[in-house]
Amino acid sequence: MDISQLTPMFQEYMAVKNQHPDELLFYRLGDFYELFFDDALTVSRELGLTLTGRAGGLEERIPMCGVPYHSVEGYLAKLVKKGYRIAVCEQVEDPKLAKGLVKREVIRVITPGTALKEQLLSDAHNRFLAFLQEEEDELALCAADVSTGECQWFVAQGADRLAAVEEQLYRLQPAEVVVVPGLTGYDALTAWLKTRLPDCALNMYQVADAETDFVQQHFGGMVSGASGAQDAATRELPAVAADAVRGLLDYLHATVMADLSQVNTLTRIDPRQFMELDATALRNLELLRNMRDGGKRGTLLGVLDFTCTSMGSRLLQKWIEQPLLDLSAIVARQDAVEECYNQPELREELQDALKQVYDLERIVARLEVGTANARDLVSLRTSLAALPQLKTLLVHAKAPLLIRLCGEVNLHQELLDTLVAAVVDEPPFTIREGGMIRDGYDLELDELHATARDNTSWMQQFEAKIKESTGIKTLKVGFNKVFGYYIEVSKGQTGLVPDNFVRKQTLVNAERYIVPELREFENKILSAKEKIQQLEYYLFNQIREAIRKQIPALQATARALAQVDVLAALAKAAVKYDYHRPLLNDKGYISVTDGRHPVVERLLEQEIFVPNDVHLDRDGERMLVLTGPNMAGKSTYMRQVALLVLLAQMGSFIPAKRADICPVDRIFTRIGGRGTSTFDGMSIARSVMEYIAKKIQAKTLFATHYHQLIALEDELPGVKNYSVAIKERGNDIVFLRRIVRGGTDRSYGVHVARLAGLPRKVLQRADELLKEYDAQAASCGAGAVGAAVPQGSAAADAVTDGGMSSLFSSGLQQELLQLDVMSMTPIEAMNTLYKLQAQAKQEAGM
Ligand code: ADP
Ligand code: MG
Repeated sequence: MDISQLTPMFQEYMAVKNQHPDELLFYRLGDFYELFFDDALTVSRELGLTLTGRAGGLEERIPMCGVPYHSVEGYLAKLVKKGYRIAVCEQVEDPKLAKGLVKREVIRVITPGTALKEQLLSDAHNRFLAFLQEEEDELALCAADVSTGECQWFVAQGADRLAAVEEQLYRLQPAEVVVVPGLTGYDALTAWLKTRLPDCALNMYQVADAETDFVQQHFGGMVSGASGAQDAATRELPAVAADAVRGLLDYLHATVMADLSQVNTLTRIDPRQFMELDATALRNLELLRNMRDGGKRGTLLGVLDFTCTSMGSRLLQKWIEQPLLDLSAIVARQDAVEECYNQPELREELQDALKQVYDLERIVARLEVGTANARDLVSLRTSLAALPQLKTLLVHAKAPLLIRLCGEVNLHQELLDTLVAAVVDEPPFTIREGGMIRDGYDLELDELHATARDNTSWMQQFEAKIKESTGIKTLKVGFNKVFGYYIEVSKGQTGLVPDNFVRKQTLVNAERYIVPELREFENKILSAKEKIQQLEYYLFNQIREAIRKQIPALQATARALAQVDVLAALAKAAVKYDYHRPLLNDKGYISVTDGRHPVVERLLEQEIFVPNDVHLDRDGERMLVLTGPNMAGKSTYMRQVALLVLLAQMGSFIPAKRADICPVDRIFTRIGGRGTSTFDGMSIARSVMEYIAKKIQAKTLFATHYHQLIALEDELPGVKNYSVAIKERGNDIVFLRRIVRGGTDRSYGVHVARLAGLPRKVLQRADELLKEYDAQAASCGAGAVGAAVPQGSAAADAVTDGGMSSLFSSGLQQELLQLDVMSMTPIEAMNTLYKLQAQAKQEAGM
């Protein structure tokens, strides 16, 4: 394209566009944001907007589409969600004052990780931007949520560094990851993101010239340890972490284009302070997101979330993901929960007051970057107004944590007074059109309002006056937005109109006129209105500046309130669902009486949840091997134990009658590991058990369908067998849901298939087959695990060969031999049986 042919406007457009080749350029023209060229094609396609064109000096019209400025947010949100980056180019001077073309500048770039507007943010979730930087074998992560001001860093070393960083990414669930060009393992990271965080955008960014003390400049002394406490030792960031922080700040400045003073504390992510939960455990335990649709239903969060504020809800998620290790820190939370638990009035009043509190963290962030409006000021005012009540409640608390949090809640009285005096109750969305500031706050503004308000009485007087002087009784003085003030005379009366009336507009039945006196009045009113808008905007910014000075104190208040909110919510869950305070020990044992699964017990509709005990220690009961038929409750029990420990380490009460729990440093979950045949599956399972029992010596719950493994109780240290009890009733079994001592050697696969509703014919045949197999097994003896297999163990695993050909063709036999019956789901079993029967029928010529 020959740029010199373009009109001046398009030449200027191209100059801006060339600086933002990777972004969709929203170019402000009057009341619209317009897109041109390829951007127009993309956006009209993605948003279903009409594609038009505009002459721009080229032979063909330039493709164009646009959206009105007042509704742009919704469109931006949609595009950012689809992964686009957007540059917003504004008119930065008043068109009325501009000579020639109005000056335009890109005022911010919106990316998934830097979005600040409501429509892109979900109150319930943080929105992190993560930046990765490396140096030799060190990989650093810096993650910030500009909408709340949090900023964290993490460094991993050595061969597994990428995996360690990925664990952190999975926990943070960032909206955007930015890496430096040439990052080691970039392809692996891309692949990982695609499967684990499919909604996360990945961008590359070359950090501009390193400004040496940028980090120090921004954060000053605010670098802190993971607990949030000032910690001189961590003030010295490792070089690679400092680079990551610098990169992140650089990227933020290049996009958000604001001071970002709300991002003011830098916290180290120190995995040693928290229980380790890798991405697999987070997923399998369904702590925050269920496996079905990633939603909150059916998750631990879903059960526990009785928080009253968005800040509290986000903090609860962090507490769930980061259970504590330190006994005294856990006890501190427990004490606070207990006080709220024992004092229903305190809890309810705290919660009522918290319901008045808006998302302070995000309001503060919007005020800082300039996207806030007067409604944010009203929300802030309502929130601050709730503080005295909250403080009064907390002041009488006994729990040391509540007392500490009380001290961290600032009252912000002066700010509240200002907001009460300054801001009307229902201000408009925009901050440029007045209507935000209360009467009596500013003298000049009051006078302007008086002038503007005066117009009705002035118009009435003026109308009366000219009615009299002209003698036109039906004459009217009015105003409309396009033509301004006018005198309207109906067609029949126009003959009476004096010469000094100037015609302005002709209607079907009337003519409209203007006279100098009315024009003068109009100018006065219009300039008063304009002045009101300007003055209100000025006053708004003045208040905004006053708030900005208090950002750290407001954030401290917000964070303290979030904690109070979570503590009260945990107490509420405890009361509502009959949870009890667990004891904590450092003796290495876990002992729970009548424990329940917090989520499953809530989801059961027809059944009552059956509580179970658990005992695990460092010696004789380190590894519990669980057997029992499908659907008996093995997985539920294993998850239940993990969740009870996790809840205890969060400082929460737990669904159990009594518990004494030693904090664990990690919860590890794995499902599967079955081989392609029964014997490799079993061999793998046994080998894993041996390794854990002898080497890792972790407390382990191990569920298996390989009954042969029961024999390991006598061979491996710390192994004890348990099973889920069932009762046989003729052909049926009843699940008792009780975990009992001792293994079971029957899998009741056919019974379970009956429960799952398989046709009777299929079940009968399956029963016959099973009997055959049992007979086979008895005559052939045990299989691979030799001495480990107890007498009379379930048959299918031990089938070797011989005797089958009389029953089946060799093809069918082959297939049967390859089946891994014990690890099939009922549906798989049914499908397989159907297939085999069809094959048999075919062979039998039926
Ligand atoms: P398994 O892993 O043994 O196949 P699950 O743990 O998946 O079985 O449990 C199957 C279903 O049984 C669960 O979805 C739940 O509805 C029910 N269940 C499990 N444990 C209990 C219990 N203790 N009390 C009541 N119902 C339970
Ligand atoms: Mg299971």
